[in-house]
Amino acid sequence: MNLMFRSTRNEAHQVTASQAVLKGLAPDGGLFVPEQIPVLDFPTKELAQMNYHETAYAVMKQFLTDYTEEELKYCIRMAYDEKFDTQEIAPVKKADGRFYLELFHGATIAFKDMALSILPYLMTTAAKKNQEKNEIVILTATSGDTGKAALAGFADVPGTRIIVFYPKNGVSAVQEKQMVTQKGKNTCVIGILGNFDDAQSGVKKLFGDEALKEELDRAGFCFSSANSINIGRLVPQIVYYAYAYGRLLKSGEIKDGEKVNVVVPTGNFGNILAAYYAKNMGIPIGRLICASNENRVLFDFFETGIYNRNRDFILTTSPSMDILISSNLERLIYRMAGDDAKTNQELMRALSEQGSYEITSEMRNRMQDFIGGYATQEDTAKEIARLYQETGYVLDTHTAVASCVCCRYQEQSKDDTKALIASTASPYKFARSVMEAIDEKYSGMDDFALIDELSRLSGTAIPNAIEEIRNAPVLHDKVIEKDAMEEAVKAFLGI
Ligand SMILES: *Cc1c(COP(=O)(O)O)cnc(C)c1O
Repeated sequence: MNLMFRSTRNEAHQVTASQAVLKGLAPDGGLFVPEQIPVLDFPTKELAQMNYHETAYAVMKQFLTDYTEEELKYCIRMAYDEKFDTQEIAPVKKADGRFYLELFHGATIAFKDMALSILPYLMTTAAKKNQEKNEIVILTATSGDTGKAALAGFADVPGTRIIVFYPKNGVSAVQEKQMVTQKGKNTCVIGILGNFDDAQSGVKKLFGDEALKEELDRAGFCFSSANSINIGRLVPQIVYYAYAYGRLLKSGEIKDGEKVNVVVPTGNFGNILAAYYAKNMGIPIGRLICASNENRVLFDFFETGIYNRNRDFILTTSPSMDILISSNLERLIYRMAGDDAKTNQELMRALSEQGSYEITSEMRNRMQDFIGGYATQEDTAKEIARLYQETGYVLDTHTAVASCVCCRYQEQSKDDTKALIASTASPYKFARSVMEAIDEKYSGMDDFALIDELSRLSGTAIPNAIEEIRNAPVLHDKVIEKDAMEEAVKAFLGI
């Protein structure tokens, strides 16, 4: 029996896993969720003996049940290969008594690679399984890291094209350079004069446009999404929580069955939702600590039960978390409403019409596992400097938000459960903010000089992803108004 996926806005709409991967978003604007979360079909202690590929297969086969063993193993093998600079794929490092799950060893040195290395394979396999005749056009809005990771994953993949929209003034210098130097005939990168939410809303609108869909179909194209709303991103992210648990067991840091708190620097709520699914699968996870930056809409939500996006959008030193509409939260809302599509739909309507909604106290009670926290840019810089000075370990700005929130939670709650912090980017990707946090004297230096200095100071090699953009030519220089996205898409596709 296949595990089916249904829309968070309409229970009647059910699809298989491969169809959900192919479609990205449900036709009613909802997100696909599994009809139930499967439970791990072996004892957790076996995780200690499993490598990344084995863990990935054991977890993913439970969700993606209409993929054959051969198909799934092929996808896993193609994704987690030499693109990663370590065979461990996602190493766990210990610093100052906390565990950092390094999710930045892939092609673009941010955690998005964990899912976006495999998504193109899951998607092209799904296209074959479902006799999709059209060329797949990946349409993506990015706050910086998704864009490059998706471009790297889909570049020159036959049968696909990819268009990425990013906020022209809302990403780091390295992030922008990574994207605009992207090679591959099927790639298109466009800056928009707006923020990430504008880019994301614009993309959602294009997805929902029926007339456009028909026009594309006539021209031999169909849209799909590489954004974290795609179930094909969520499922591969569950894997590394199972894997990290196995690593902690193997190194003797924890006993089998011992709970571990997970702290996740959060933007679109995809990564932490994966941790929640891992917990529901039976991985012994205690608290799920959701760390925000100054765009603390999620912190306020967990404090009050009110989600309110009506506030200023703040550009911070952790740009991949500069988000006011956390798309994946809808999956949690749906579940907290008792898998009730109608309630969820009403709340999402309120969000799009009034910019806010309030959940019931019953729903809030079901969210006890989640704890919100936030760190200001100043807190974040201090945390980078503190950990570097005490241990020599250098965090990127996103991970530092989580690390700071984690320290504060431990101090205030006296909860001595071991903490696993999702380390979502290499410090090299945000070298300027990181180096300025460590010492003000770095503020005058140019980006690549800072990168060289970071290498010297941390004793780590400069990642390939950085070396390759040092002298790369800019191949994409288009910048448009935020309401010109449809025209830009049509221009690229030649329709
Ligand atoms: C995308 C991203 C995040 C936020 O992850 P979500 O799944 O969107 O919550 C955090 N840190 C970095 C470096 C990212 O790229």
